[in-house]
Amino acid sequence: MLRHSLAIKLGIATGLVALALIALGMAVLWPLPDSEVRGLLGDELRVTLFVLVVVIGGVMAVVALLARQLVTRPLLNLARDMSRAEEGDFLVRAPTRRRDEIGELAKAFNKMLAAITDLHATGIDREQDLQRAQQALEMQQELERRSHLIEEANTQLKGRIDELTLLMDLTRAATSTLELSAVLDEIAHRVGKAMGVDEFAILLLDRARRRLQVVSTFGAPNSAELMALTFALGEGICGRVAQTGRPLLVPDTSTDARYLHAKGLRQVDGSFLALPMVAKGRVLGVLNFFRVRRDGFDNHAVALLNAVAGQAALAIENARLFQEQAALALTDALTGLLNRRALDQRLDEEFHRARRFGSKLALLMIDVDHFKEFNDKHGHLLGDHVLKQVARTLRRQLRKGDVLARYGGEEFCAILVRTQLDQAVEAADKLRRAVAERTYARVRSDRRLKITISAGVAELQESHSGPTELLDAADSALYLAKNAGRNCVRVAEPAKTS
Ligand code: GH3
Ligand code: MG
Ligand code: MG
Repeated sequence: MLRHSLAIKLGIATGLVALALIALGMAVLWPLPDSEVRGLLGDELRVTLFVLVVVIGGVMAVVALLARQLVTRPLLNLARDMSRAEEGDFLVRAPTRRRDEIGELAKAFNKMLAAITDLHATGIDREQDLQRAQQALEMQQELERRSHLIEEANTQLKGRIDELTLLMDLTRAATSTLELSAVLDEIAHRVGKAMGVDEFAILLLDRARRRLQVVSTFGAPNSAELMALTFALGEGICGRVAQTGRPLLVPDTSTDARYLHAKGLRQVDGSFLALPMVAKGRVLGVLNFFRVRRDGFDNHAVALLNAVAGQAALAIENARLFQEQAALALTDALTGLLNRRALDQRLDEEFHRARRFGSKLALLMIDVDHFKEFNDKHGHLLGDHVLKQVARTLRRQLRKGDVLARYGGEEFCAILVRTQLDQAVEAADKLRRAVAERTYARVRSDRRLKITISAGVAELQESHSGPTELLDAADSALYLAKNAGRNCVRVAEPAKTS
């Protein structure tokens, strides 16, 4: 208590000063005789001393009270304000009404607080600035990350668009181009360009020979040699793919013994992918892709190229169907010979070719004799069979370059290219004899049936303005043969017999 109170200390100090004064007084008085002291102090020394003590005590109390009121309390208040400031309450201010030192102290304290408040506010501002800068930085980083993601997505999208475009192009090729060689060219060109493969080849499967034949290449430096290559079913990678109908990927061609390096034509190693072209469950061929680097085909590339192979198969199948249909449209169903439409086309071509090159051209019109009678006697079924046999006999007797067609009913027409009249007459008679010499058997019968033909021969004349006139000439010659008794050959003009 004593230690902690400035007022009490001041009170005590005052008391001690008073006591010191009394002691000094007594020291002055002590050497004097009692009578003098009594004279100075009066008779009642004790009373005097008591009063002195009381006065001193009172002075001490008053000094202590005044010190408390004037010094201690304001200082305590100031200390309390300082404590609050220290706890973070920078808005606290000490009262500055007093004009004494404590008032000055309070002012100084307030100034210091104001400065601290400013400093604090500046600190807060700085911190906020720092936070904002940090946030801006983070936002910029996030934006950069997002723009990078968008860029990546864009690149991927562009890739997808290119892939889809390629597939669409192939689909278009599958439906628009019906010429097989054009389809193959289209596929090789588009796929090779779009897929960024180093080398690419199309192989078609020849079912009869059970072999794959290279029919188109892209990027290969030795294309001509590659085009001569064939692979048996099960041979090498592509042969296996054609056999199983399943894709095969060789990530490193230097380590796979099945890979044949295009039968020695490819010197470099890399990665190789062979995909079957399957349409309606049948393997039509194989697509071979080669990249110079190892592991050049990831899952995505394999899936895409598989889709490409599917489209290519469709295009090839369509072209083949079209070719088959086109061939059917020009073929006679009963005999397998060219039909009338095909004959007209070929005759037109040959007529103009002969005219252009000044070469010879002859035409035979052939008709089965008394065939109505034959049908009536033996039935149409046997009649059909005989017609087929006659067609086969005629075809066998003619040269490879000659054209034989069923003109209609039991009539045939042969175009003999680069053939003059006498040779044509000779050929016609050879046909006539071949037919006449063979016999035809009924089912479950020993009886051998015979058939004969008549033929009219015409040669391309200067006067013929078109193929129809040549045809008419041959037809009128045939009429002559019929009139001459059948089983013979006649020419239009001048009349010549066999
Ligand atoms: P000609 O010696 O004068 O030629 O007598 P033809 O009986 O052969 O002549 P015609 O023109 O009178 O009769 C042609 C016959 O050919 C009629 C028809 O029964 C027969 N024929 C035509 N096309 C076919 C066919 O595809 N199959 C069969 N089985 N017979 C046919
Ligand atoms: Mg006839
Ligand atoms: Mg006839």
